[in-house]
Amino acid sequence: MPSWEYAPAPESRAIANLKPNYRMFLDGEFVEGGGEPLKSINPATEEVLAEVSTAGSADVDKAVKAAQRAQDKVWGRMPGAERAKYIFRVARLIAERARELAVLESLDNGKPIRESRDVDVPTASAHFFYHAGWADKLDHAGYGPDPRPLGVAGQVIPWNFPLLMAAWKIAPALACGNTVVLKPAETTPLTALVLAEIIQQAELPPGVVNILPGAGEVGAAVVGHPGVRKVAFTGSTDVGKSIQRSLAGTGKKLTLELGGKAANIVFDDAPLDQAVEGIVNGIFFNQGHVCCAGSRLLVQESVAEELLDKLHKRVATLRVGDPLDKNTDVGAINSRAQLTKIQELVASGEAEGAKRWTSPCPVPDKGFFFAPTVFADVSQAMRIAREEIFGPVLSVLTFRTPDEAVAKANNTPYGLSAGIWTEKGSRILWMADKLRAGVVWANTFNRFDPTAPFGGYQESGFGREGGRAGLEAYLDV
Ligand code: NAP
Ligand code: MG
Repeated sequence: MPSWEYAPAPESRAIANLKPNYRMFLDGEFVEGGGEPLKSINPATEEVLAEVSTAGSADVDKAVKAAQRAQDKVWGRMPGAERAKYIFRVARLIAERARELAVLESLDNGKPIRESRDVDVPTASAHFFYHAGWADKLDHAGYGPDPRPLGVAGQVIPWNFPLLMAAWKIAPALACGNTVVLKPAETTPLTALVLAEIIQQAELPPGVVNILPGAGEVGAAVVGHPGVRKVAFTGSTDVGKSIQRSLAGTGKKLTLELGGKAANIVFDDAPLDQAVEGIVNGIFFNQGHVCCAGSRLLVQESVAEELLDKLHKRVATLRVGDPLDKNTDVGAINSRAQLTKIQELVASGEAEGAKRWTSPCPVPDKGFFFAPTVFADVSQAMRIAREEIFGPVLSVLTFRTPDEAVAKANNTPYGLSAGIWTEKGSRILWMADKLRAGVVWANTFNRFDPTAPFGGYQESGFGREGGRAGLEAYLDV
């Protein structure tokens, strides 16, 4: 077979409209914050993209008060049909500025442009569209005849889907009549601040949405502010636990969306080539920086060798490199700290005796990159089978019977998602019933839709986001 070289197909970075400085968004205006400015870098090149002002503690107080005023005087009183118009406008403006947002997201986060363009940005827009539709129908959502908003929502989001997580949090809050103070992650604040521009462009009343960049202590100040009535957090289990402790007894409503160690389970009757695509999408999508990533492959013993062989061949074709190149499948790891964490866990896998296979693909020598890696002969006690790696690393375990598959899949403190690959519909239903996971995919993986509730069991958190169920978190029911 001739081997064809790919020609570079870079998206132009000029589309990102990158500015040297970004300011925080407070009470409808872009202002300098009282904190030390941070520098956001491009993880694919390690160059500084922009300087971003951060919030001091006085800013957090100002933002919560602005959000309270906006909630009392304007947003909470506005008829749902009116709120919907603003939210629809935000959805449309995201779609209009989709290319700009996609390129900026890839620059700031390191994810491939194919993903930011085809998944992150359209799904962010879809969340606003979907929730705009609810704003005037809350009486019919099943939460009583006249469900009321809670007030100010304090929201803290991670770096893996910066714009999408912001949309995921802000859209339901606004639809239900709440106002928002949101803290984006330190390494990826830029698209949230362009979303703030869009919110300004859509002429949302000042104070309805406030976006305060900064480090963890800004997040802690937002969730701890007495004016905040609802807290929504997505991130690590450790920080989630500390937030839950700090909110105990305050009466604030809390949802936590934390880590995961999902099982992707392949039975011997599954269409293996299709399963391989699902496994690849499950763990290498977004460099594996996905809380619901299919990071544990459970494969039925009789097809394990054949599946692993197909998997290696397929993974070896993945192209690692420039996130702005449209041919790139796996982009940059978001930060040096995350890369170090992945390297450390991979070293533990080798030390504990798992068999490592790493794709022979070329990897850029500048920036933070990690070649797709598959561990075979993994046992349940190994760290790579128990801990969230949050990188492009798959751990493969085997099973013989459906009962054993369920037992192994559930042998985790997490419980965010799971995947089942089989031709048998009855087996899918039987398994889905027994798996302790908030989302169970059958013959597919990593599908996201605003209509589908998303959330965890156990240490993956509680509460649901998306769908009708997700509205409950933002209503006084
Ligand atoms: P993280 O520390 O939990 O960060 C998530 C968000 O919380 C960030 O905005 C962070 O700010 C903020 N934060 C940090 N400390 C806080 C505090 N005490 N109170 C309130 N907010 C606080 O997660 P990470 O460091 O980005 O990643 C660590 C691990 O978490 C990953 O390796 C992965 O296992 C997991 N993770 C899970 C998800 C998910 O979607 N479930 C997403 C990302 C990471 P800074 O940006 O300044 O840290
Ligand atoms: Mg960055």
